[in-house]
Amino acid sequence: MLAREPQTGIYNQATTARDRGQAMARALLAILLMIISHTTPASHYDWHIDPAKPETGVLRLALETPLKDDTIFITRQTGPAAADIFPHCENLDEALQTSGQGWKVPAGCSAITWSVAFTTIESPTIDLAEQSNLHHPQGWWLLTEWGALLRPESQETYATVCARLEEASTCRPMPEPHQPPLFLLAGEPDLTRRFADISFRFFHAMLPADFDPTKLHDSLEHQLTYLTSLVPREKRAASIPAEIDVLILGIDQSLDRVGGAAGHTAYLVNVAVGDDGISSTELVRLLWITGHELFHLLGLDSAPLWTAESLAHYYGYKSMEASEKAQQLFDRMLEDLPEMGLLQAHRRVTRQGEGQYYGLFYTRGAAFWRALDEHLSESTGSEYNLDAFLPMLREHEFGPNGELPAVFIDTLSKHIEPSILNQLLDKYL
Ligand SMILES: [Zn+2]
Repeated sequence: MLAREPQTGIYNQATTARDRGQAMARALLAILLMIISHTTPASHYDWHIDPAKPETGVLRLALETPLKDDTIFITRQTGPAAADIFPHCENLDEALQTSGQGWKVPAGCSAITWSVAFTTIESPTIDLAEQSNLHHPQGWWLLTEWGALLRPESQETYATVCARLEEASTCRPMPEPHQPPLFLLAGEPDLTRRFADISFRFFHAMLPADFDPTKLHDSLEHQLTYLTSLVPREKRAASIPAEIDVLILGIDQSLDRVGGAAGHTAYLVNVAVGDDGISSTELVRLLWITGHELFHLLGLDSAPLWTAESLAHYYGYKSMEASEKAQQLFDRMLEDLPEMGLLQAHRRVTRQGEGQYYGLFYTRGAAFWRALDEHLSESTGSEYNLDAFLPMLREHEFGPNGELPAVFIDTLSKHIEPSILNQLLDKYL
């Protein structure tokens, strides 16, 4: 919730005399946050970009008051290895020592600086699911939080992150650890648009010269309108960002991989580009991944992992206008699946690290929700479908092995013939 606060004023760094009332409110809020978070004061991140050195970003974290005690800072990680960012306490002129998965920041430190490496996009070979820091020669950068943003290990931070590129600043709220990561795009977008009260900044690269990205916008608007309608009214202010940054990056079709990733206020999607440009099937896949990432971004998913990914994938599909192409793509996705139930796949992936079964969350997982959705619709004469039951999956505890909440099954069994429901659960889970 704190990460949304910037929209109420703290987001804007420029404070003038007439903002005094707001400044007072900000100060009070900062004090309140300090009390809530015990020792961590409000803080601010600056990411300084020097166009002459595009592959190095300098980051600086300024704490509003010096640390009272030695404090461990970490970066969020996708994998086990900590990145080489060589942090330095600026005011104490001291390199930080590593400590476990992070670094020990000494008492008295009030500003930390470190550097982050960026890869220049030179060919259509980058899988965005890897979520790495990128630079495009046209003059924009993508900073992803993984391994790149120091934060206190044990407290919630309250911060904004601003990219500084020459005269321009782009600021975004720092997500909390349970939220999707920060993806910050700095530089001039190719396009800006407003859909469903959200401002979009589009960055594109490695697309065919004759490809017009605006032809995706009707579908995006349709998908967004549907997906935001699934966010419960009382959660809309906190879950729907005012601005969303989008990176659409072409990837060589022969690599046979397209990725996507959802951040706190941004999403990234690959589109496969072949010798003849982008096929209509790949266009549908792009829109599907877009819906998938938006589902995560809007906080519609729920733990555990298998549910988060399978629901995102099913709703990515459902968010598109129904078409034969989309249906074909869905059916093709289900060919040659390994014979493994979703709960077993969940165990193998999360407990045994067998990532090769992750794909089942998308395939069998999406097929499970589609079957359930269709049965719900049929048995209630279209009065209900899965949409109505999504909040239950966020509000109730799953079993220790990822089993669906008992209350969810109970509720479904009031709408679907129990023998049919059991068959479905047996078949997919
Ligand atoms: Zn996903």
